[in-house]
Amino acid sequence: MTKTFASFVATMVFAAGTLSAQTTKPDFAALAAGRNVAFQRLAYLCDRIGPRPAWSPAYARAAQWAAETMRQDGLENVQLQPVEVPVWERGSARLLMLEPAQRELPVLALGGSVGTPGVEAPVVVVRSLEEVGPQVKGAVVLYAFPMSKPQDYGRGSRIRSQGASKAAEFGAVAMLLRSLATASLATPHTGAMQYAEGKPRIPAAAISQEDADWIARLAASGVQVRVRLELGCRWAGTTTAHNVIGEIRGAEKPQEVVLLGAHLDSWDVGQGAHDDGAGCVHVLEAMRLLKAAGVRPARTIRAVLFANEEFGLDGANAYAKAFNGQRHVAAVESDMGGFAPTAWSVNARENQLAWLWPSLAATGLPARAGWGGADIAPLAASGVPLLGLVPEPAHYFDLHHTNADTLDKVNPDELQAGAVACAKLAWELANAPGAP
Ligand code: ZN
Ligand code: ZN
Repeated sequence: MTKTFASFVATMVFAAGTLSAQTTKPDFAALAAGRNVAFQRLAYLCDRIGPRPAWSPAYARAAQWAAETMRQDGLENVQLQPVEVPVWERGSARLLMLEPAQRELPVLALGGSVGTPGVEAPVVVVRSLEEVGPQVKGAVVLYAFPMSKPQDYGRGSRIRSQGASKAAEFGAVAMLLRSLATASLATPHTGAMQYAEGKPRIPAAAISQEDADWIARLAASGVQVRVRLELGCRWAGTTTAHNVIGEIRGAEKPQEVVLLGAHLDSWDVGQGAHDDGAGCVHVLEAMRLLKAAGVRPARTIRAVLFANEEFGLDGANAYAKAFNGQRHVAAVESDMGGFAPTAWSVNARENQLAWLWPSLAATGLPARAGWGGADIAPLAASGVPLLGLVPEPAHYFDLHHTNADTLDKVNPDELQAGAVACAKLAWELANAPGAP
């Protein structure tokens, strides 16, 4: 009985706290309505700056543009944090089928691959890392991993990352990957790969699902397939890129930070519209709306646009190292595209969940346990709860890391809805009483 009463009182106190916050709660959807600022900014990033690997001149322009945008919106402490990043140049790529047909197939080198003036060999088809063995000696290994849904991406990206070294261990001369995609219109999808220490470095590239399935069908019926792969990609040292950081300082607890993040770099194909231009615009637009609301939050809300998520997480690691001593009560990332927001994915401890829950509920989106985001992941080591915006996932991996990830694939209303959701959550978290 006493216990019930105590929890009732706790509920009332809690409700009162929530209510007082609600009386001054800004209407972010109304503030965003009609002006299309989010989409115009994404259009600038995509059409005028374009694809922006962290080591590219386009990335440097994107960082300057983002910092200038933050200053225009009235954010405080806008800064460019230097981050050392590797340089990898794609160069040209050509894949020729030599047998049984003579045909040029669309191909994209995987990020980080070594180049080759030309390697010719028969193709051996496998579906997983575990299938690789002595049968691949002297061959080009094709990983025909059958990705069909977004949830397959984790397993697929492990093959993309480790496949070359695994194949090289058994004497393969090159690696091809059936593109990691949920639907395909003959488009290869790139993405990062890594070489294991002490293994020969063989070239690695992605081909379309259609061509991978064709080759797999030929191989399954006993037809020998021979290909020639030429890759002009190369590593070229390191350079300095920048994380772009801006804040709205908290009125009551400025030393407590709610982080809103996305990654400013993209792959060098397409325009990086959904990955992760949309996330960057979610963050910039949320900050603009929070500022436009004209009410200073209790805690500091900090926007961070990270450098080089795609090719080593250098910006994420540099941020965590430099800002580790500051108290982050939560970190929110948008790196799953610009489709209509559907949910929050939450990586937090029990006591943190209890604190996060009312803020999440106030956004009107459901929350479930899961992944926060790659750029905020290093903060987990210091116990920061991580939250990811989950837009509608059905078509994200149709476009991901391809020449087709362009502005026309983003719906302005859906993009704006994502930004409004981020603004709401940041506002709630920055004003929520207490924090575990
Ligand atoms: Zn991304
Ligand atoms: Zn990506």
